[in-house]
Amino acid sequence: MSDPSVVHSTAAASAAEPTSAASPKYAEVAVPVHVSRTFTYLLPRAISHDAKPGARLVVPLHSKLVTGYIVALLDDIQSEPTLAETAIKEAVELLDRVPLVTPEVLAITRWISDYYGSPWGEVIKAALPPGISATMERLIVLTGQGYDQMETLAASAPALSNILRLIGDHGEISPERLAKEAGKTQTSRLIRELERDGLVQTIHRPRQLPIRTRHQRAIRLLEVDQAALAAQKLTSAQRRIIGELNNERTMPLKNLLAEANVSLSSVNTLEKRGIVELFEEPVRRDPILAREIPPAEEHTLTEAQTSVLESIEKPLREGIYRTFLLHGVTGSGKTEVYMRAMRVALQLGRSAMMLVPEIALTPVFSRRLRANFGDLVAIFHSSLSKGERFDEWTRVRSGEARIVIGTRSGVFAPVRNLGLVIIDEEHEATYRQQDSPVYNGRDTAIVRAQQESAVVLLGSATPSLETFHNAHIKKYEHLQLTDRIGNRPFARARIIDMRKVVAQYGRPRVFSDALLERIAETHQKKEQSIILLNRRGYSSAVLCRTCGETVQCPNCDVTLTYHRSMRTIVCHYCNHNQPAPSRCPSCEGEYIYYIGEGTEQIEEMLKAQFPTIRIARIDRDTTAHRRSFEKTLADFGAGQIDMLVGTQMLAKGHDFPNVTLVGVVSVDAGLVLPDFRAAEKTFQLITQVAGRAGRGNQPGQVLIQTYHPEHYAVRHAAAQDYAGFYEQEIRYRKHHSYPPFVVLGLLLLHGTDLGRLKSEGNDLRKALDAANTERLCRILGPAPAPLARLKGEHRYQLLVKARTRKHLRQVIDNALAEVASLGISRRSINLEIDPVSVM
Ligand code: ADP
Ligand code: ZN
Repeated sequence: MSDPSVVHSTAAASAAEPTSAASPKYAEVAVPVHVSRTFTYLLPRAISHDAKPGARLVVPLHSKLVTGYIVALLDDIQSEPTLAETAIKEAVELLDRVPLVTPEVLAITRWISDYYGSPWGEVIKAALPPGISATMERLIVLTGQGYDQMETLAASAPALSNILRLIGDHGEISPERLAKEAGKTQTSRLIRELERDGLVQTIHRPRQLPIRTRHQRAIRLLEVDQAALAAQKLTSAQRRIIGELNNERTMPLKNLLAEANVSLSSVNTLEKRGIVELFEEPVRRDPILAREIPPAEEHTLTEAQTSVLESIEKPLREGIYRTFLLHGVTGSGKTEVYMRAMRVALQLGRSAMMLVPEIALTPVFSRRLRANFGDLVAIFHSSLSKGERFDEWTRVRSGEARIVIGTRSGVFAPVRNLGLVIIDEEHEATYRQQDSPVYNGRDTAIVRAQQESAVVLLGSATPSLETFHNAHIKKYEHLQLTDRIGNRPFARARIIDMRKVVAQYGRPRVFSDALLERIAETHQKKEQSIILLNRRGYSSAVLCRTCGETVQCPNCDVTLTYHRSMRTIVCHYCNHNQPAPSRCPSCEGEYIYYIGEGTEQIEEMLKAQFPTIRIARIDRDTTAHRRSFEKTLADFGAGQIDMLVGTQMLAKGHDFPNVTLVGVVSVDAGLVLPDFRAAEKTFQLITQVAGRAGRGNQPGQVLIQTYHPEHYAVRHAAAQDYAGFYEQEIRYRKHHSYPPFVVLGLLLLHGTDLGRLKSEGNDLRKALDAANTERLCRILGPAPAPLARLKGEHRYQLLVKARTRKHLRQVIDNALAEVASLGISRRSINLEIDPVSVM
C-alpha cells in the first residue's frame, strides 16, 4: 500500500456512548454477512441498559437470527430519516455485558472495512477467536395456557390443537421441523396465531456450545494447625497427600493423585474432615509444551544493534507513532533487536505485537519469546486448536499476556496500551489475506499503530519496493544493519547458465555437474545442504506424446500436477484430484509423459544419485501437519538429516549453522509469471535462501541454476545487492505506472455464464469511464483474468490505476453503485484494493 497513513476511521468517535444519562434506544449493528452496510435495531428495555459498543447482539435479519456486533448506540434515528420507526426490528438478545470487541479492535476493523471495502461485520468476526459465537436457534414451546387448551381446541380447531400436541410431544421444536411434521403449508401463520393468543412462545438458544474457558479439579490444603494434624489418626496415603500439599499448597487433582500415588477415596476422606478442599480452577490450553522452551539467552548488543535500538527507543519512550524500516542482511541480528525493543515496551508498561509471515515460523520465535518473557507471551495463529486460541485471546484481553506473536490475524489481538509493533519479513506476500474479508496484515498493523500511538518496526533483508520507497522519501525512518554478526562472510554465489548445460549434453538436465559435485563435497565434509525448487508435486504437467494434449483441471484453466506418492494428478488451485491416467484422456494414446520436475521428483532423483545422503522434503504436501514440519526442522538442526529439499518454505527464518551449501535448482518459473512483482519476488526468494548458507563458522556457497542468467533479479540476488536491484526495479515501476507510483484496484468478475460475464464486464467498464470524467484514473480491461477459469467459474478482470487513493475509491465506488442499479450483483464482483499479485 502506498499510503497507509491515511486514516479514514471515525470509529473511535462513533464508538463513544451517547451523552445522555438515559439508556440508548437504538443500536447500529454490523452483521457478519456480505453486505456493505450496518443495520439499526431497536433495543428492548431489558437490553438497552447494558448494551455497549463492541458487544454481540442477536438480531433478526431477513428471516434468520444472526449474531451481530454493536458498533454504535443511538438515542434517536433522526439522522436516518428514511428509516420509518415502525420498520425497525427489535434486537433479541445481548450476549455480552462486557463487550467482546475492544474499542481499539473496533476502530481497526472499521478502517479495514472502509479501506478494503470488506463488510464490517465479517471483519469483526474474523477478528475474534473462532467458535466463540454459537449460532442461535429459534424454538417453539407451549405456555401453561397452551397445555390447558390442547384438549379443548380439539373439537373447534383441530389444526391448531394438532400443532399444540406436536409441540407438547417434543417439548421444544424448531418452526421448520414443526412445519415438516405437521405437513401443512400454513404452519407459520398458525404459529403466529397461537403466539398472539399466548398459547405458544418463541425462545432462542445457542445451537452448539460456544468455546469457553476450560476448568479442572484442583485441591488445596486448608489452614490446619500442624500440631492438631499430627495428633490425628491418618493413613499413610493421607500423610502422603498432606506431604505433597505442604510443598505446593494447591495443585491439580490429577497431579496429586499421580504424585502421591493415592486413590480418590483418601482425598475424599480428608475433604470430609475439613483438611483439604476440592475446587474448580481454570486451566490454560497452552500451545507450547514446557519442554520445548529453550533456555533464555540474551547477547551483548553490537555497536550497530545498540544504535538501532536507541533510535527505536526514543519515540517509544515519548509515546508517539513512528515507522522504522529495519533493513538488515540475513544474520545481522535483527531478532535480537526485536527482543530488546519488546523489553523496553514492557518496562514502559506497554504491550508489543510481533507478526511473522508464516505459521511455520511462529514456533521458532514464540519459543524464544517464551524463554525470555514467560507467560507474558501469547500466540495467535490459525493452526492452534480452537480452545488454545480462545485461551490465548482471553489472556491478552485480560492483560495477563502483553506480548503477542502471530501471523497476520495477530493484528486483531485485543492488546491494550499497544506500544510496539514488529513485522518480521515485511515484504512477504502472506501478510495479505486472500479470502474475504480481504486485508493486508502489515498495512493494517501500521494503521493500528498510528491509531494507538505505537512504534512500528518493519524488518527485512529484502524490503518490499513500497516500503523501501517510503523510507527513501523519509516517510519511514531507515535503519540499517549492514554486517552479519561476527562478521561472517556472505556465501559466495555462482550463477550456472543452464543453456550451456543443454549445449554440452544436447538436452536439458535437471542438475548441472557443478551442483552435483558441490553436493557430494558438502556431504563428504559432513556439512549440510538445502536444495530449493519452487514447484511442489512430482511433475508439473502430464503430456500425451501422441496428440500433444496436457491434462487440464476440469474446473480451472491450469494443467494438473502429478503427485507420485499418491498416484494422483492434482489441481493446485481447487484441489481437484483424480487417479493418474495410464492412457491419454483425449486420444487414448499410451505414451503419457510427465514433464517439469517438482520437489517430489527432485527428492527422488537426489536419493537415487546419493544413496548415503539422508534427505527430507519440505513443502506444503509434507507439512500439512504443524508437528511434522517442526520435527523435520528439529531433525535437520540436530544433524539427523543431511539435506532438505523443498519450496520457498525453506527460505525463511531458520538458522542452521552447519548448512554450507544452498542449491537453487530453478526459480525460472517465477520469473516468467505475468506479474509486475515477478522480478521482486524472485530477487527476494534467491536472496533469502542464499542467506541460509554459511551461518556458522564454515563459509557457505550458493549455486543458482537458471536459463535467465542475465536477468537483473538473478544477478543482483547473487551479488546480495539490494540497492542495485532497487534502482533498476523502481525505474521499471515508474516507467510502467505500477506501485509505489500509482495505487491499484482490481475488479474481478466471476460466474458460470460467460456471455453474461462479458456483458457485465463491459457495463462495468462503461460505468468506470463515466465516473472517470476528470481522467484521474487509468482503466484497463475487461480482459480474461490470467487464470481465466477457477473452481468452475469464468473470470474477467478490470484494473484501475490512480495517482491517489482518494481518486481510486471515488471512481470505483461510483461505478459500483452505478452497476448495482443495473442489477449486477455486488457478490459477483471482487474488489481488491492494493492487490498483491497483478498479472
Ligand atoms: P537475523 O534475524 O537478522 O537474520 P539473528 O537475530 O537471527 O539475525 O542473528 C543471527 C545469529 O547471531 C543468531 O544466532 C543470534 O543468536 C546471533 N546474535 C545476534 N545478536 C548477537 C550479538 N549481539 N552477539 C552475539 N551473537 C548474536
Ligand atoms: Zn482446479
